[in-house]
Amino acid sequence: MATDARTRPESTLPRHPCLRCGACCASYRVAFYWAETAPHTPDGIPQSLTRKLDPLRVAMAGTDQPAPRCVALRGMVGEDAHCSEYARRPSPCHELKPAWEDGRPSPQCDRARLRHGLTPLTPADWAGRAFVPGRQAGLPAGE
Ligand code: SF4
Ligand code: SF4
Repeated sequence: MATDARTRPESTLPRHPCLRCGACCASYRVAFYWAETAPHTPDGIPQSLTRKLDPLRVAMAGTDQPAPRCVALRGMVGEDAHCSEYARRPSPCHELKPAWEDGRPSPQCDRARLRHGLTPLTPADWAGRAFVPGRQAGLPAGE
């Protein structure tokens, strides 16, 4: 999912594809176990940014609606986008990987991009980029 632009070092590398996207943060319900939230998990997403779904699950505010857009997403989808809570993003956001970043497809990434009129990523989108463990900036997620 979206990346954290604030933590991205100046670089001559091509811009991370997620920083021109953000589609997955505006496509899916981002639901997860309530105990992932702060203060139950000290470095978790603040409870105030979530909405209760049921006794066990919460969702990122803004994502549990017909036209989802996570409350933590900043910028314009498809142009510039980043996650304002990247360091504290919940597990679904960790799990949704951009297609081909690590050499594997990502149907969730592809579907989100198509939903927003963007072409799916290809291996060529990563050409010239060194692999950065853990990724840099504020990327998006989904259920
Ligand atoms: S993971 Fe895919 S859909 Fe999500 S921001 Fe990155 S490129 Fe866009
Ligand atoms: S990465 Fe997760 S928390 Fe951040 S904007 Fe996207 S959906 Fe929201």
